[in-house]
Amino acid sequence: MIGPVIAQMLEDNRDNFLIPAEVVANVQEDNLLDHALLVLTKVRYSKIPVLDKNSKFKGLLSMPMITETMFGLENFSFEQLHLQRVGDVMEKDVPTVENPYDVEKVMHLLVDNAFIPVVDSDRNFTGIVTRREYMKSLNHIAHDLEQDYTISHKID
Ligand code: AMP
Repeated sequence: MIGPVIAQMLEDNRDNFLIPAEVVANVQEDNLLDHALLVLTKVRYSKIPVLDKNSKFKGLLSMPMITETMFGLENFSFEQLHLQRVGDVMEKDVPTVENPYDVEKVMHLLVDNAFIPVVDSDRNFTGIVTRREYMKSLNHIAHDLEQDYTISHKID
């Protein structure tokens, strides 16, 4: 468990590390792969969330998921991307956190993931927490801790 002081400082910063859904690039699960390829190329993010028509979180899509599909098809051609949908190739088994999310759980998940999708209790997509924003908060805490608290070394 994170100590109560650090946990509280992380809680105080919670709003700073959530990137809200409105500004997160996404594709829909029924989008065709040629469209998704264009979106990924344009936004320049390596991986983006996949939503359904009702803005519920469904999975993640990356460029390699599309290119692997292209190389796996017989008679490689871009036209073939018009025959498959995002939902056919996306990563489905994705860890998510529910808002209001636990700051410690997010920290553990960010060890292996560059970002974590945040959903509400109905799986509506709320936004993402990125490793970058979380690290910025940890950086603030590392700088502020001794300014705000007196730390003394315990000797057994
Ligand atoms: P960053 O820590 O800012 O480099 O972001 C890590 C990853 O989170 C990126 O590679 C993307 O996969 C994802 N990401 C960050 N910001 C956005 C955004 N605005 N829209 C979609 N995906 C994003």
